[in-house]
Amino acid sequence: MRASQFLFATLKETPSDADIVSSQLMVRAGLIRKLASGLYVWLPMGLKVLQKVERIVREEMENIGAQEVLMPMTQPAELWQESGRFEDYGPELLRFTDRHNRDFVLGPTHEEVITDLARGELRSYKQLPVTFFQIQGKFRDEIRPRFGIMRAREFTMKDAYSFHVDQESLEVTYQQMYDAYTRIFQRLGLNFRAVLADTGSIGGSASHEFHVLAGSGEDAIAFSDGSDYAANVELAEAVCTDERAAPTQERQDVATPKIQTNEDLAKFLDIPLETTVKTLVVKGHRINEDGSEGEEQLVALVVRGDHTLNEVKAEKIAEVATPLTFATEEEMKAAGLKKGFIGVDLDIPVYVDRAAAAMSDFVSGANEYDMHTTGMNWERDAQITEVVDIRDVVEGDASPDGKGTLSIKRGIEVGHIFQLGDKYSKALNCTVMGEDGKPVTLMMGCYGIGVSRIIAAAIEQNHDDNGIIWAKTPDIKDSIAPFDIAIVPMKSKEDTVMQTAEALYEELKAKGLNVILDDRNERPGVKFADLELIGIPHRIVVSDRNLAEDKYEYVDRREGEKQLLSREEVLAKVS
Ligand code: ATP
Ligand code: MG
Ligand code: MG
Ligand code: MG
Repeated sequence: MRASQFLFATLKETPSDADIVSSQLMVRAGLIRKLASGLYVWLPMGLKVLQKVERIVREEMENIGAQEVLMPMTQPAELWQESGRFEDYGPELLRFTDRHNRDFVLGPTHEEVITDLARGELRSYKQLPVTFFQIQGKFRDEIRPRFGIMRAREFTMKDAYSFHVDQESLEVTYQQMYDAYTRIFQRLGLNFRAVLADTGSIGGSASHEFHVLAGSGEDAIAFSDGSDYAANVELAEAVCTDERAAPTQERQDVATPKIQTNEDLAKFLDIPLETTVKTLVVKGHRINEDGSEGEEQLVALVVRGDHTLNEVKAEKIAEVATPLTFATEEEMKAAGLKKGFIGVDLDIPVYVDRAAAAMSDFVSGANEYDMHTTGMNWERDAQITEVVDIRDVVEGDASPDGKGTLSIKRGIEVGHIFQLGDKYSKALNCTVMGEDGKPVTLMMGCYGIGVSRIIAAAIEQNHDDNGIIWAKTPDIKDSIAPFDIAIVPMKSKEDTVMQTAEALYEELKAKGLNVILDDRNERPGVKFADLELIGIPHRIVVSDRNLAEDKYEYVDRREGEKQLLSREEVLAKVS
């Protein structure tokens, strides 16, 4: 590829609405552009990265015999009514009607569609086990889209579904998937952990999540130094005897609104100071390491938006706040609320349930707290105070299996595998003829990977002040950098510089390497800054001065040191 013919959409300034390092760098490096909240355009530079991740995922799926399909993103509501999820799924499911007044949803996941396919296509136990997968756009109307493509509303997922005559067969495929996921994240060069996950409302017997470790992760995962025990904290908490377990591992603070005064609140909501608005303010105390009570801080701010807050403002809050999802859509409707009920959770998601009781009272109006309804008075609102013990009690505790002590790290959920059992096959009556000639209801597994989220997670894990650093992959062919090598010819009166650069470019291309020739009419400083921002792993500069000595200037993005190398040495570095 020639850079003069390729869209370099790099930005010097950090976009004001990009909230963590990966989203800032992805926008600045020209990989993505925001279209609207939670919706992103993949620019040519970013799409290359996305397709490289897809390739590795696809290879590992095919490697375990999974067959690729492509299902529509638009799904008829009837299937969701059959499984019961049309009602159960909640507001993340985007429902809409077509011109004939038929109900549809935009697929957040595809259990219903694949089960419908299976009941139509699979006849006999002899066809089983079978696994289908797809790599496709999903839509989830996330209440708070944030962190760029990490928590988007439309995003790319690899989702796979397996069908079996019995639990034993399901377990075999589940283990193959577990191993395939492990290989995918290893090939990507990521620092990750597989952890036990809650099987929650779905039931089923086993579930694992795969987390990329990063301080900005939204999940807390606990692992033991004395055994293989690793779980996401929700689960570790459930099995720890100490129910106060509430880790407060530092995480990179993101867009936390600094609201101290009425003026701050009015400014934040973008409304005049005199506006009538119902707010519930929940404050708590940090507990210091020595057990003493620490600084008071804002825990949650709930704005009841059925008054003067219009939807736009509610949305503005949703953009910067972690919403509390304890109220269902029905509850909100019952309380006469539309969209404007949003909570702000500052940085300790785990103990939100404790504040939640007070807040759901507030929302339902069951308990009239001392609410301020005429103008905002921060001091008075602050009377509604919950003192919450947020002491970190999991860290250092013994684990649930009695071996070793637990440590807590932040993780980004990039994959999730699940033994579903017969939940969907039963609801949709998905059976085949069994060995004994009688119909058997199939057992199912489902397996997701956040293909687009992986990119943000990789950047969270590897970057510096100058930009992205793509992880070193065990095999250079698995690198997900948009280009692996950049050749930069310096301006010269002689043709030899350009000719040499062109020849090297052709040679590397012929070797199957992913190389870009930076022939843009830009100053070298601009080119170097762009290449560092985008994270191109290898940079080769061709100049008059060095050519006179038959040398090339070479820089490894991960090391940063300039080296003067012979042609052979350069070739050895990049292949
Ligand atoms: P999360 O806990 O982050 O909301 P999830 O548990 O709802 O994720 P799953 O239903 O397990 O997600 O979906 C499989 C994978 O899809 C997740 O492991 C994650 O990597 C990815 N994913 C889920 N939601 C999003 C999103 N809004 N944006 C990007 N990727 C996502
Ligand atoms: Mg989710
Ligand atoms: Mg999750
Ligand atoms: Mg999940």
